[in-house]
Amino acid sequence: QVPLKPGRSLMDWIRLTKSGKDLTGLKGRLIEVTEDELAKHNKKEDCWICIRGFVYNVTPYMEYHPGGEDELMKAAGTDGTDLFDQVHRWVNYESMLKECLVGRMAVKPVAAPKEISSTLSEEKKQLNGMLPEKKVLGASAKDLIPSYDWFQTDSLITIVIYTKQKVMNTELVIVDCQDKRLRGEIIMDDHSYLVEVDLDHAVQEDFAVNIAEKVGKVEIVLKKKDNVHWKMLGQPLESHNTFIKRTDRGLFYRKCKLVSKTEVTHDTKLFCLMLPKSTHLRVPTGQHVYLKQIIAGTEVVKPYTPVLPFLPLDFKEPSRHDGAHIYLMIKIYSCGLFTQALDHLQIGDYISVSNPEGNFKKSQVQTSEDLFLLAAGTGFTPMVKLLNFALTEVSCLRTAKLIFFNKTEDDILWRNQLEQLALKDERFEVQFILSQPAKDWVGKQGKISSSLLSEFVKRSRKDSKVLICICGPTPFTEQGVQYLKDLGYSQEEIHTFTA
Ligand code: FAD
Ligand code: NAD
Repeated sequence: QVPLKPGRSLMDWIRLTKSGKDLTGLKGRLIEVTEDELAKHNKKEDCWICIRGFVYNVTPYMEYHPGGEDELMKAAGTDGTDLFDQVHRWVNYESMLKECLVGRMAVKPVAAPKEISSTLSEEKKQLNGMLPEKKVLGASAKDLIPSYDWFQTDSLITIVIYTKQKVMNTELVIVDCQDKRLRGEIIMDDHSYLVEVDLDHAVQEDFAVNIAEKVGKVEIVLKKKDNVHWKMLGQPLESHNTFIKRTDRGLFYRKCKLVSKTEVTHDTKLFCLMLPKSTHLRVPTGQHVYLKQIIAGTEVVKPYTPVLPFLPLDFKEPSRHDGAHIYLMIKIYSCGLFTQALDHLQIGDYISVSNPEGNFKKSQVQTSEDLFLLAAGTGFTPMVKLLNFALTEVSCLRTAKLIFFNKTEDDILWRNQLEQLALKDERFEVQFILSQPAKDWVGKQGKISSSLLSEFVKRSRKDSKVLICICGPTPFTEQGVQYLKDLGYSQEEIHTFTA
């Protein structure tokens, strides 16, 4: 992120797009753009970029781009899809840039594929509109592609997905059944398998997901609304029965109800959202979701990391920790576009929540002996589930230390709970470090530094297996990683949480 000039916030951009100004220079016309034509528009003052087959004139947007003009210029006059996906594929560019749309890429004729190759390359072709590199899977790879089948009784429809992967669990299965539309996604590393159909007949809202973990079989059991015999499962939708890279799938959202909103600190609140009955979704430790709201007529999307309702989980309230609720700890910024709108939601209002994403794998912590969590401000959020997971499931864990950086004492999130946890579990220790302490603060002060890290991040034994996780404002995370490397920790021992 770069500092933007005054008058160049997202809200200012939304206002400009609503002003009626011609932002493409084409007086409302949409054109077909050839690769040669696209390549000509490669200067700051005349910059076109293609994303998923659609071409945008991004020159008017340059000064509003939170990542800076240079980042945008990297894709000037070319297909920026991959770059966009790497950096922020969750940003709803279609809505944000709709007034900048120049037109579609002219599609080149495509030679018929020599081999049936799974839908992977086909899908990419449609998405990008430009010729992709051909990725043809070999025979052995084809055997690994999941498949599905279905059967019925008088009252039930059972869809069986054979993932052909031994380790399956509930977090890898995401099912939504809205009206007659069924969407079942299976996450398999960086790929995703999708069953997506318009069902033949109506079903009831709730359904069951059964997982045979060891054989990798997933069953979605739907309840028929009427006891009629189905002739078919339904009409396949566009992405039905595809096995593609996760990053090539669009984000899927469902509407969740805000059921409670409680104060955590003077500016941070715990939002509890309830998933619809017709959704099966568990957000894995270390992953985030995207929330989507329409603000001044434009869809705005921001990432948030689910936490637990509280720590430690001893006195948990089982009804609210059943997977049907998502807890988000969110700081409300006085001039924040998204968080101000969130704060105005009333109990009972709905908000769109995406499928989970993130690059953290539980296996990273499963073998750790010493776990260090460096959190700044709301960078604490991914640490909540991680800490709970480590303390309850990682048998080799010897120490877990949270080094929590905040501005003032009033900003410390869940201080009481953390102190209680430290009393309860002798493996856990918490250290608060304030950057703007009041005079009476007797604890540590300062910002992240080499000396603070060398004081607090130490192996419990000479060769102990260490994992250090960092999350907070980007400069905090970047400096932290550099200091840790200087102190001799390897890349594999450090995990940074980012979008
Ligand atoms: P914005 O309108 O973007 O601005 C917020 C504040 O920052 C304002 O004061 C603004 O002046 C300032 N600001 C904005 N952009 C710049 C800039 N370029 N330069 C200088 N100052 C700027 N937040 C949480 O509270 N809880 C979470 O669980 C959480 N999880 C996250 C997970 C991920 C993976 C990521 C990447 C971020 C997460 N965040 C979380 C942050 C969240 O996504 C939003 O960025 C945050 O809520 C602010 O959104 P906003 O639209 O309200 O603020
Ligand atoms: P804040 O402004 O209250 O700052 C908290 C502490 O961070 C400060 O006391 C200081 O120690 C440190 N800090 C702040 N700016 C710094 C800088 N420039 N250099 C070094 N240290 C610095 O923090 P906040 O408003 O709660 O913001 C939290 C940040 O964490 C946001 O940027 C948010 O996007 C990010 N976040 C990221 C994820 C993720 O990527 N998974 C999750 C949650 C939050």
